[in-house]
Amino acid sequence: MSDTRPFHDRDGWIWFDGKLVPWREAEVHVLTHALHYASSVFEGQRAYGGEIFKLTEHSTRLRQSAELLGFEIPWSVDEIDAACREVLRANGLKDAYMRPLAWRGSDQMGVSAQRTKIHLAIATWAWGAYFGDEAAKKGIRLDISQWRRPAPYTAPTASKAAGLYMICTLSRHAAQAKGHDDALMFDWRGQVAEATGANAFFVRNGSIHTPTPDCFLDGITRRTVIGLARRRGIEVVERAIWPEELEGFEQFFLTGSAAEVTPVASAGPWNFEVGELTLQLRKDYLDLVNRRLSNS
Ligand code: PMP
Repeated sequence: MSDTRPFHDRDGWIWFDGKLVPWREAEVHVLTHALHYASSVFEGQRAYGGEIFKLTEHSTRLRQSAELLGFEIPWSVDEIDAACREVLRANGLKDAYMRPLAWRGSDQMGVSAQRTKIHLAIATWAWGAYFGDEAAKKGIRLDISQWRRPAPYTAPTASKAAGLYMICTLSRHAAQAKGHDDALMFDWRGQVAEATGANAFFVRNGSIHTPTPDCFLDGITRRTVIGLARRRGIEVVERAIWPEELEGFEQFFLTGSAAEVTPVASAGPWNFEVGELTLQLRKDYLDLVNRRLSNS
């Protein structure tokens, strides 16, 4: 059963600018720059059995995302790692989702924001399968989004920046209004890009094809799954993928820290089977994060 309580009204602790504060007291002012101008970046990571998977990669990406938005987080990667472990422990959680967030504060209003203080908060909560347990096995249904991932010269697309999620929320709302789970997004050129919060992989004749991440996040899970596939001797081709090709792919799955490895049953008019290769990689990934499989 998922917890339907609002996120501001829960028990627990949130790591906020260097200390643990009671959950309900982790608040910001309405004149926070990030709220007006999207000057914020975040991470999403999972802990399995008390260990945060690829923690240092996530903390490193958080700092890099901020640099791409022109600000430096005043905590090192090591300090962010330690803070994540501390807040997980404080909340008594072992299997959990974690959300580090860094943003420009309320010290200056207007587009310019050089004098704003940089804040960092980390929250964590129990969160099961991103698309639900059933969907994770049967495959999810995707809409095709009307929104396109922007070109890298129009937005800092390599940053996990809040502003880039505006079109993701719109896409997912449109998809859910049609009874779908999520949406597949194309990019500004019309090439297949990713879902609203996860990367896309296709299978044909025993090979894997995945779009080159040149205008969207090169996910940590994406890279992990590419490694797992190659370890099994499966060919992985990173290249431009055009919508016309979707017809010819047999399997389709998504990867992400929240989504893990989720099979896709359909995307717009195209249908896919929840095939062996997808299920094998899903199992490999879950074995790896739960330390039933070695990391090499
Ligand atoms: N693309 C988007 C838009 C995402 O939000 C995410 C989730 N962070 C991903 C891809 C997958 O990234 P990762 O595997 O690092 O979680």
